[in-house]
Amino acid sequence: MRVLVTGGAGFIGSHIVDKLIQAGYETAVLDNLSTGKRANIHPDARFYEIDIRDRDSLRTALREFSPDAVSHQAAQASVSFSMRHPGEDAQTNILGTLNLLEAARDFEAKRFVFASTGGAIYGEVPEGTRAQVDWTPRPISPYACSKLAGETYLEMFRAQWGLPYNTLRYANVYGPRQDPHGEAGVVAIFSRRLLAGDPLQVNARLRQGDDGCIRDYVDVGDVADVNLQALRGNVETTILNVCTGLGLDTHTLAQELGTALKRELQIKRAARRAGDVERSVLDPGPLDSVLGRPPQGIRQGLEITARWFRESEQVKAR
Ligand code: NAD
Repeated sequence: MRVLVTGGAGFIGSHIVDKLIQAGYETAVLDNLSTGKRANIHPDARFYEIDIRDRDSLRTALREFSPDAVSHQAAQASVSFSMRHPGEDAQTNILGTLNLLEAARDFEAKRFVFASTGGAIYGEVPEGTRAQVDWTPRPISPYACSKLAGETYLEMFRAQWGLPYNTLRYANVYGPRQDPHGEAGVVAIFSRRLLAGDPLQVNARLRQGDDGCIRDYVDVGDVADVNLQALRGNVETTILNVCTGLGLDTHTLAQELGTALKRELQIKRAARRAGDVERSVLDPGPLDSVLGRPPQGIRQGLEITARWFRESEQVKAR
């Protein structure tokens, strides 16, 4: 199987590429390196430095590589950027996705896997519940709207042209290689700050001084494994939440990370951040059977992540 991974120089995409190459698949990365890094690109992957908004170059690459399956991870992935620049967000996440879908159809890909967002698409998830894939999406950001538009196009391409697909709605993904300089990725941000001896900022869920918003943190290794199963055609449901089903507040997350990194915690309590969903926890549905095991627990996942951040700091210090 030949697989094209868009966004394969980014955090999640590069883990998917690692698993594909380990499994023996011929793999290509397509990325414009806007947030992705050259260093993340697996040396055995073919690399197309292309912007998905550039329809002609994209088509040339797909014609040449002729993938059996496409894993679409490339995106404008910041909620707050989308609030400030909704048009730019739509150009990448809607028009770029449409360019890729057209090319996948025209050059006869047999499967399309799409990175969507469970963290943003459902909006507020009431206490005591977990968002299920059949809930009506309630986007409260341009980013969530553009991901929902991508999902809608996928379904239309299946209905009109028979392109099989899976939409994977990721919860809050964490793990090695996450960029701490971005706006999301609290695990990466906290890890770097703890290692530098800096205080951690907990933004309020409701009122300053509370323990912060509740999120469903999922390990990037699990996200990559689910992608692999979907690319192989082993995921029967068209939409799947990729999550643990467990909610954790920001303060507890900080404590767990402090333990994993063996660092003293200094917490700064900050006001609520506009646009933050208070609580987001997803229902994993058939995820255990897709993975063949339960998702990675937060404690073990944070241990692995902490080790990676500690080692990458040591490499930088040399
Ligand atoms: P990332 O920024 O590390 O990866 C995105 C990659 O896409 C980068 O390598 C970037 O260079 C590339 N890219 C961006 N715009 C492009 C364009 N116009 N043309 C070509 N390449 C482009 O982010 P990530 O966290 O790895 O996210 C991967 C996917 O997962 C995204 O689609 C994101 O929306 C989705 N997602 C992520 C999370 C999370 O918690 N990290 C949660 C839900 C959904």
